Amino acid sequence: MHIALDIYSPIHQITDPLFEVKGIEVFIKRDDMIHPLISGNKWRKLKYVLQKAQSENKTHLVTFGGAYSNHLLATAAAAARFGFKSTGFVRGEDVQNDTLFMCRLHGMELIFTDRDSYRDKPTLFNKYFGTDTDAFFIDEGGASPEAATGCSELVSELTETYNHLFCACGTGTTAAGIINGIHQHQLNTRFNAVPVFKNGGFIKDEIDKYVTTPVDYYLHLDYHFGGYAKTTPELIGFIKQFVAKTGILIEPVYTAKMLYALYDLAAKNYFKPGDKVLAIHTGGIWGLMGMKDRF
Ligand SMILES: *Cc1c(COP(=O)(O)O)cnc(C)c1O
Repeated sequence: MHIALDIYSPIHQITDPLFEVKGIEVFIKRDDMIHPLISGNKWRKLKYVLQKAQSENKTHLVTFGGAYSNHLLATAAAAARFGFKSTGFVRGEDVQNDTLFMCRLHGMELIFTDRDSYRDKPTLFNKYFGTDTDAFFIDEGGASPEAATGCSELVSELTETYNHLFCACGTGTTAAGIINGIHQHQLNTRFNAVPVFKNGGFIKDEIDKYVTTPVDYYLHLDYHFGGYAKTTPELIGFIKQFVAKTGILIEPVYTAKMLYALYDLAAKNYFKPGDKVLAIHTGGIWGLMGMKDRF
């Protein structure tokens, strides 16, 4: 089976009195619309990884993630879609939640793993699947050069030039791919990365692992809201307002933090009048379901 999806990721304008006052235009690229579960950047990251697995005649995808991992869910759904078997090593004790339910529904076998042994993924893989010649190792979050290549293709889909591009960062692979795309197309676009971790400065090293030509980009380190998957009433309030005003669903772990940064920077005159700004909606809205109690 040929591994490809017809990409549907339109660009929508977001209007807001703040943007009018500042004289800027803000748009959002709806990678969340690529697929309900193989969402956003996770499809872009998996595409060439899966093609590589197929070219090596591997039929069993083995990967890793936390109990709410969008990557696990995307891998489970993609495996089902493209005819692979799948196994997910889940960090921590045996739990049940909506994400893992959906993984299982798509046929993924789950192996719960204590935090210590989870750290050494190649050893885990070898212990369980060292003799399984069908098994294909996919790192946590899908981080790999193939993943960065998939993400760089986002830039080829742009038909206009933007002064700024904004994207949330976990492993930084998506950011690196987009930075490479901006460079390949020689765009005069400033890339703005919003790490979702506390002390996210380390993400620069992660991004630079996959950046093919050194270029300048900006890290905005003050929008982590306490750390990975942490929220504050302010962030939740922002999400409620944004969803009700735009009809675009966002989740608290990634896209909400990135958009909060964009609005806050606009208020602080980070942009010049006339600027066109593009935010990337990286998807993952299924993650909202595990956080309903915070709203
Ligand atoms: C995984 C994920 C990210 C982070 O992507 P990286 O390539 O790891 O930086 C961003 N947004 C969403 C919704 C995700 O699921």
